[in-house]
Amino acid sequence: MLTRQTMMSHLITTEPELFPDPIDQAASEHEIDIALSVKLFAIEKLRRIEQALTSLHTRSYGICSRCNHQIPYARLRVQPDSLYCVPCLTIMEQHSDGS
Ligand SMILES: [Zn+2]
Repeated sequence: MLTRQTMMSHLITTEPELFPDPIDQAASEHEIDIALSVKLFAIEKLRRIEQALTSLHTRSYGICSRCNHQIPYARLRVQPDSLYCVPCLTIMEQHSDGS
């Protein structure tokens, strides 16, 4: 009986270290899971926003503001901030010259 009691008390005192509360462990793992999925979701969301912004930026970038046609890459290389394609710029220059 005494041996059994000693064993029991020994088990009780050592149990928390050897066997952490399954519920506590599950909760913390669950919390980690949630934290991780939230983090991944946030990263995924940010990535999508970034992609959208990038596509939006690249879509409007290099597009002529007058005729909405693609400005030739050669022109963008010479003048990366050009807003108009050469034909439109020529037309606009002619118009400004005439008036
Ligand atoms: Zn144009």
